Amino acid sequence: MTHQIPDFPELQFGSLYCIGRNYAKHAKELKNEVPSEPVVFLKPRSSLIFNGDSVKIPASSNNVHHEVEMVVLIGKTTANISTERALESVMAIGVGLDMTARDLQSEAKLKGLPWSLAKGFDTFAPLGNLAPYHSATNLSDLNLTVSVNGEKRQSGNTSDMLFNVASLISYLSKHFTLTAGDLIFTGTPEGVSAVEKGDLIKASLGNGLSTLQVHVS
Ligand code: ZN
Repeated sequence: MTHQIPDFPELQFGSLYCIGRNYAKHAKELKNEVPSEPVVFLKPRSSLIFNGDSVKIPASSNNVHHEVEMVVLIGKTTANISTERALESVMAIGVGLDMTARDLQSEAKLKGLPWSLAKGFDTFAPLGNLAPYHSATNLSDLNLTVSVNGEKRQSGNTSDMLFNVASLISYLSKHFTLTAGDLIFTGTPEGVSAVEKGDLIKASLGNGLSTLQVHVS
């Protein structure tokens, strides 16, 4: 499997940073407190799949959820960046799914353990087409939707993010050096629900600016 970025063949994918609990209503539906700082976790690159691929339900989970999210592609090396300059690092945006084995994650949360196993399975990071970012695009006003077998499951807007993209990049860059090809999954609005083998998941960001279609197998 190649880690090349389909829409930007000159780049290779790097780290997959993910933000948890970045929409208040989603934090509440999972009975989590609304965080005062971004909640950060990572997925392995082997979890990435693309349009037309299939999410594989692992044998160890009976409750795999979709989380539809805006994904940001970083275009240059970025460390200790201010929020004012953070968007200079954004190369493209797209829609992604942070697939989550909710049963394994709930167990890990109870035990105070990391989420990597629940979030990092192969195929657990489907990514749609990446649309080049222009400063005229308002990243804080993009619709996010996901449907399963034609039925709407999640519908949100990035205006409801607790930490906007500039704050997230600035925050991450104070802990990690971001590099071209890194992806940031920016959190999910409410309405997460389970998928099953045979389902068709369709997701969209910005009314079709980026779209994603994957099967579940
Ligand atoms: Zn998520």
